[in-house]
Amino acid sequence: MWTLVLNCGSSSVKFALLDPTSGEVRLSGLAERLGSGAASVRVDRGGERVTHPLPGGSYPEAFGVLLSELGALGVRGDVGAVGHRVVHGGERFSAPALVTPEVLEAIRACVPLAPLHNPANLAGIEAAREAFPDLPHVAVFDTAFHQTIPEVAYRYAVPEAWYTQHGVRRYGFHGTSHAFVSGEAARMLGRDLSDVNLVTAHLGNGCSVTAVRGGRSVDTSMGLTPLEGVVMGTRSGDVDPGLHDFLARQAGLSLGEITAALNKESGLLGLSNLTNDMRELEEAASRGHAGARLAVDVFVYRLAKTIAGMSVALGRLDGLVFTGGIGENSAGVRAATLGRLGVLGFEVDKAANAQAVRGQAGFITTPQSTPALVVNTNEELMIARETARILQGEHA
Ligand code: AMP
Repeated sequence: MWTLVLNCGSSSVKFALLDPTSGEVRLSGLAERLGSGAASVRVDRGGERVTHPLPGGSYPEAFGVLLSELGALGVRGDVGAVGHRVVHGGERFSAPALVTPEVLEAIRACVPLAPLHNPANLAGIEAAREAFPDLPHVAVFDTAFHQTIPEVAYRYAVPEAWYTQHGVRRYGFHGTSHAFVSGEAARMLGRDLSDVNLVTAHLGNGCSVTAVRGGRSVDTSMGLTPLEGVVMGTRSGDVDPGLHDFLARQAGLSLGEITAALNKESGLLGLSNLTNDMRELEEAASRGHAGARLAVDVFVYRLAKTIAGMSVALGRLDGLVFTGGIGENSAGVRAATLGRLGVLGFEVDKAANAQAVRGQAGFITTPQSTPALVVNTNEELMIARETARILQGEHA
């Protein structure tokens, strides 16, 4: 059975048709600039790429193209389910859920927690249910994996009513990726997931670090929103909570302006004043660009500090996983991070670290070191697997 995995953003839809068991991908692609006159959809049919314009710029139009592509491949009848990525499931969802009117209502109730993402996820699910009315749809939440985090780690030291009345607590994100790579890492370590303690570092444009004890998330660096934690491409990560008041008074900035700058103009971009792209920063730093050097150094230092902090949640550390575009590709970031973590028993194997690039998972530390490894994340495959699991459960 093929599973269609959809990740609907406000102006884009990322899709993949894959086999949840083998991971084989039959079709994938990206609809972009939806809502504008310049919308288009790129379809990758296993090597061959085509781009279709979408003059209406809508989700239904994008799904229409997807339907005809599935028809052309002769696989429309073999698609058994649709799995949707949903960013925020609040405290309501600790597992994926078959989409029903009640589940849609519960996702809507989480909109205040993710005002940019959940409305787009909902609109995408609704359009996909119209395009594929005969298929079961499953929502897979970015936050669900972190619902096992204990209260001591998820509560902020703020007035209790903010939590009880408004849900102000730490939720965490990237759960699908952290769950996937911890399973893969346990397999590579030759250990049972239920008795292995890992720190997983998902380092892409967004970055987060999670402590995974026996396959369950017990702490993570992102919080109420995906802005908390380590330095990211354009997101600041942790700042002093007094910053907003200070900037409002000193620079006359509004709350909206400060929030936008912390999300879109900060992180690696803000520090370097050059780019949010780690590869470009490493190149610029090697040519002597001081801002780029500083951005990479701050990124690494704060990352190492966060990883060390996560070890508190685990007690015993059996392995550190690097994943995401930076984690899978940047030998420099990995080596510098491990270099700062000698206190946890890490010792990098330079040759193995240099060889580990995307598509090639493996260990990057010496035999006597606490193990660190690179694992290629695959969120689409995890969503497809979770979708299949929920449907098997539903049918049991
Ligand atoms: P993602 O969001 O997972 O696609 O990750 C995007 C990030 O990965 C960007 O900061 C890229 O610069 C970074 N990245 C991709 N390839 C490389 C590479 N070869 N070296 C360093 N960073 C890379």
